[in-house]
Amino acid sequence: MNENIAKDIEKLHELIENSRHTVFFGGAGMSTESGIPDFRGSGGLYTSEGAGNEYYLSRACLQREPEEFFRFFREHMVFPNAKPNAGHYALARLEVEGKLSAVLTQNIDGLHQAAGSKRVLELHGTLSRSYCSRCGKVYDGSFLHADGVPKCEKCGATVRPDVTLYGEALDGFVFREAEGEIAKADLLIVGGSSLTVYPAASLVGNFEGKYLVIINYSETAYDERAELVIRASVGEVLGNLASLE
Ligand code: ZN
Repeated sequence: MNENIAKDIEKLHELIENSRHTVFFGGAGMSTESGIPDFRGSGGLYTSEGAGNEYYLSRACLQREPEEFFRFFREHMVFPNAKPNAGHYALARLEVEGKLSAVLTQNIDGLHQAAGSKRVLELHGTLSRSYCSRCGKVYDGSFLHADGVPKCEKCGATVRPDVTLYGEALDGFVFREAEGEIAKADLLIVGGSSLTVYPAASLVGNFEGKYLVIINYSETAYDERAELVIRASVGEVLGNLASLE
């Protein structure tokens, strides 16, 4: 790691030590470092296979062609062998030490919980839960590892993953919780997000606390507003942070 980044990590460490309410907001970059492709980013499936793929992740596809929906979803969204990286573990440890209030994430892979984080607000839902599209009965996510269209044992309707599809609104409860965390935060750390996609941009845009820190390889629209911008791997930065005590 270069010297400047090492200094930046020390500064981040100091900011965390001196803050009373720290919140982490993570984007797709958090998961790509665990081997999960960013389906919006460069090399992701939109760019490599064409924009038509958005349809396969939409509510319309789920309703009209559930077989196609589940085939595509299992192939492109489910990575059962992915493991948390150093960044996930570092965040879990900060929470245990009382230095991190919440993790807000747009990822659906559950890797924060796998690393031990407790307060995780999943803005786009989670692969670990599903529910009946008619009666609402809740199931786990195990059907994602099976074949065919899962059916509700109570009413026979399609059971669907509890994730936000195209054409659907975010979960209002989770979104309000996330807004509340950001409103209370004096330190907001954003990692692995270019902050271009809703709801990232609007949530971070409403941050009025003292310090904003951005850890991302590429520029973001909020770099100028940030106290500290670290152009490096979010897993590496957080992982090294954990060694500073
Ligand atoms: Zn049902």
